[in-house]
Amino acid sequence: MPIATLAINGGNPVCVDPWPVWPQCTPATLAHVERALTSGRWTISGPYRGKPSFDQQAARAFARTCETDHCVLTASGTGGLYVALEACGVGAGDDVVVPGLTWVACASAVLGVNAVPVLADVDPDTLCVTPASIEAAITDRTRAISVVHLYSGLADMEPIMALARERGLAVIEDSSQAHGARYADRPVGSLGDVGVFSLQGSKLLTCGEGGAIVTSDARLARRAEHLRADGRTVARHPVQPGEMELLETAEVMGGNVCLSELQAAVLLAQLDELEAQNARRRQAADHLSPLLAELGCQPQATAPATTARSYYRYAVRLPEPLTDRVPADRVAEALGAELGFPVTPTYQPLGASRLYRPGTRRRFATGPDFLERVERGRTPLPAATAAHCRTVTFGHEVLLADPQRMGTIAAAFAKVLDGVDTLGAGDAPRAPTSDGHLRRKLGDFQATTSPVETEDPVLPPLHLI
Ligand SMILES: *Cc1c(COP(=O)(O)O)cnc(C)c1O
Repeated sequence: MPIATLAINGGNPVCVDPWPVWPQCTPATLAHVERALTSGRWTISGPYRGKPSFDQQAARAFARTCETDHCVLTASGTGGLYVALEACGVGAGDDVVVPGLTWVACASAVLGVNAVPVLADVDPDTLCVTPASIEAAITDRTRAISVVHLYSGLADMEPIMALARERGLAVIEDSSQAHGARYADRPVGSLGDVGVFSLQGSKLLTCGEGGAIVTSDARLARRAEHLRADGRTVARHPVQPGEMELLETAEVMGGNVCLSELQAAVLLAQLDELEAQNARRRQAADHLSPLLAELGCQPQATAPATTARSYYRYAVRLPEPLTDRVPADRVAEALGAELGFPVTPTYQPLGASRLYRPGTRRRFATGPDFLERVERGRTPLPAATAAHCRTVTFGHEVLLADPQRMGTIAAAFAKVLDGVDTLGAGDAPRAPTSDGHLRRKLGDFQATTSPVETEDPVLPPLHLI
């Protein structure tokens, strides 16, 4: 049979029908927002109006979802990471183990509390850190381990917690990509000392921008409360309408990373949709994965103790002989052209990520050795680099489509894999990732923080080390 011309080369695409979009408004979301707007209180740092704030209602509801005793809502997932790190006592002079394959905020938040991220490589199948990779990244200054459940894979929390207990380290379980997933029949976020969630617009549960910290440790929760609201905590006893509900308890000095009442109202309504939406995504993924496996692709794995999976991005490793010839980002582009939704490679390994540039910030020039230690923390990450060169991903909203349409996705994969030799290497891929580049990419990790170039003439180059 002749090879069909790929859409990226001017052929007919496999699919022209639209796919679901994200986020999705509901009548309850609209009603909640109207109630927040007309309540006379748009923030928890405003006077009490005789009704529980949306912040407190949503926090209680999310704690129930996570089966934890406490939840503190924050303005973003990044803000939540700051608060969680400081609640665990992380600060100047400390190292924190950070996964080498994840969103940049996982490392920049560590820098933000004056600590040093030390990158740990990931398991090639789950794309999450492992006890062995964490162990390799532990130093005599390590105070905490940050674990990320990436895309749809869960890290193997039980042996990770055992390692952390043995070494006396706190575990921050960043579940920003796994809302509603369960490990050993426990909700993610409840397995570490403290769980952190992003509620940003692309996430499985969202209120636009937002974050949440969950824990069953009352001391950690109280510190987190202080840290997010300038040293104030919510009154434990009823206050009179017109009085402030936030009390200046001041056991810890904080910053302001509170969520507004409008966002908390959206969150409370959206939380009701999470379980059913996750079930639909899971059903679609269960339909798709065997079809892609038949084509020689390897869908992302998850820890064996996973009891309910949630899909933030669907990730699948391409057949290896193919990625030796054509970079994953080129295949991803061709798949996107066939399907009409964005398909992308994984994150760049953090050590080589263009977003991870500590040297561009004066605030990190705290001493002669700080940025040198940060550079040492950019350890080589062969598995994360290989994953980036071989894996393609797409967003969870696609999995909300009718499960029948998963056949269309598999058809697009089959067509692109058949025609892969007509793809070429592409003319200047934005993030060159071909296998030929693998060694050079690994070389990038050895790059040190040189003077930062800037195209803005007003901003002279910084010379921080
Ligand atoms: C999205 C995300 C964050 C950052 O959350 P924001 O709400 O965008 O600040 C942190 N960690 C992980 C794993 C994420 O996916």
